[in-house]
Amino acid sequence: MTYLAPGEYTGGITNPGEYTGGITNPGEYTGGITNPGEYTGGNKANRMDAYTESLERLIEALGKLPGIGRRTAERLAFHLLEADAAEVAALEQALRDLKTKVGRCQECGALAEGPQCGICASPRRDRTRLCVVEKPRDVIRLEAAGGYDGLYHVLGGLLAPMDGVGPEQLNLANLEKRASGGEVQEVILALAATAEGDGTALAVADRLKAHKVRLTRLARGLATGASLDYANPGMLADALRGRQELGS
Ligand code: ZN
Repeated sequence: MTYLAPGEYTGGITNPGEYTGGITNPGEYTGGITNPGEYTGGNKANRMDAYTESLERLIEALGKLPGIGRRTAERLAFHLLEADAAEVAALEQALRDLKTKVGRCQECGALAEGPQCGICASPRRDRTRLCVVEKPRDVIRLEAAGGYDGLYHVLGGLLAPMDGVGPEQLNLANLEKRASGGEVQEVILALAATAEGDGTALAVADRLKAHKVRLTRLARGLATGASLDYANPGMLADALRGRQELGS
């Protein structure tokens, strides 16, 4: 029960920006799905007898989280079982608030509690610059990197025609509206260095070409094929500082 697989990543809950896609974590126990001979907690009916129904239900729920195998799920469940009531209540409240309070900023699409995010609401941000990103987590990454004091615009995805994601699925109309308001002078494209990221950058450029804004993109310090998820804060800060005119 206390066995910790070597190399097992256990920090996911306290590091929201961290990549926890367990598939690539060497040593992570995956609950036997890919290793039918491995430990899976035994026969389910027997397990219910030993674990009780509620504990088993919690282990199953935790085991669905990315990077959490059966063994880690068990360890977490037993931790919670033994934790004091206040700790469990705080977790319960945080989970509930996550689904009821955290939404999207009506202006930029970043995470927000209420109609506007903290960045859009801040009087200290430079409103002449918009940094265009794929998803809310990219905003968190770039903020952690530091050095950028403009606003953001979250597209909500990248163009992927093969997967049915066209321009109308992205938050492009609102971007055009924001960029054409007269206040914005520069739009910085901070998208993944992938074919989809490049295709999306072209679509944004096309959409904004009629408006008098300077279009730049992150310096190619990001390895080709990399999304922002894999860049460390230093790399992101450098990429932002060294940004280039689009097309150069
Ligand atoms: Zn916002």
